[in-house]
Amino acid sequence: MPLNVALVGIGKIAQDQHVPAIANSTDWSLVATVSRSGRVDEVPGFETIDALLAAGLDIDVVSLCTPPTVRFDITRKALEAGCHVMLEKPPAATIAEILTLETLAKTAGKTLFTTWHSREAHHVDQAKAWLKSRRVRSCKITWRESVWKWHPGQDWVFEAGGMGVFDPGINALSIMTKILPDPVHVTAASLEVPENKHTPIAADIDFAHPEGATVSAHFDWRETSRDIWDIEIATDDGLLVLTDGGANMTIDGVLQPGGDAALHGEYPRLYARMHQLVQDGQSDVDLSPMIHVSDAMTLAERKLVAPFSF
Ligand code: NAP
Repeated sequence: MPLNVALVGIGKIAQDQHVPAIANSTDWSLVATVSRSGRVDEVPGFETIDALLAAGLDIDVVSLCTPPTVRFDITRKALEAGCHVMLEKPPAATIAEILTLETLAKTAGKTLFTTWHSREAHHVDQAKAWLKSRRVRSCKITWRESVWKWHPGQDWVFEAGGMGVFDPGINALSIMTKILPDPVHVTAASLEVPENKHTPIAADIDFAHPEGATVSAHFDWRETSRDIWDIEIATDDGLLVLTDGGANMTIDGVLQPGGDAALHGEYPRLYARMHQLVQDGQSDVDLSPMIHVSDAMTLAERKLVAPFSF
């Protein structure tokens, strides 16, 4: 039985990934959109969540693709109106917001899914399985991409709550928190913040590991040559390297079969999982990537760097 979904925030990721993933699945039917400026052809569009909910459409799921800062009120209204909710990453502006939404969803008996699309990258599950029986000696994340390419003209990423380079960096942290066999926590961080902006354009983070492994992350939004989304993990029994955001993987230098293009298949798998969660009456709320971002922001030394413009 297909679920009726309303998409909120018709911007880049909604158009690039959500709309095609829904259109190509027999499990889903896109019945409405909410956006002040974005539209999807032949789908009824509303300017606010209030207008959508007042229209009396039959909506099972509200899927949010807005910036995180406006998610709380929209999610609360959707849950109170009896809808299940699926959230783009990062799930909300703060940890407390998500904890409150989790309680609201439980009280309403509705599904809440904090999606982490990078966890659905092709080789992430295999990486987790390979690491399970090994001792990690080091884990080095390098996440460098162009903010001009991936967030063209999106002022919100540099406004308070927009998270800056943690917006993509949290993708790496979502993979790390899924595949490392042991939990880690942030011990130090340094941020580079453009002097005319509120959020970092680059970040370096150190983590503590229970067995003393060296764990670090380096994020930079000023890389214009190519996307570098790599996680290199040395163990007592071999070296695993995830590249292309987890879409490809080498073990001891040998490319593993079945690799894929970055992002390919991630969103169809997220929608399949949401469909299953709704059928099972379950929620999936995982805050661990957000906790690392929050802790890095708390502990960070900040350095002002050159002003930024799109
Ligand atoms: P975007 O292109 O700026 O789209 C955001 C949408 O949210 C717009 O359609 C905007 O529509 C709506 N919106 C509502 N309130 C807003 C506000 N106060 N400020 C700005 N927009 C507001 O952003 P995006 O790249 O799609 O990113 C949205 C979310 O998806 C982010 O959490 C991001 O991390 C995640 N994501 C992005 C990418 C990517 O490649 N860009 C990849 C994966 C995940 P109206 O102005 O018409 O209302």
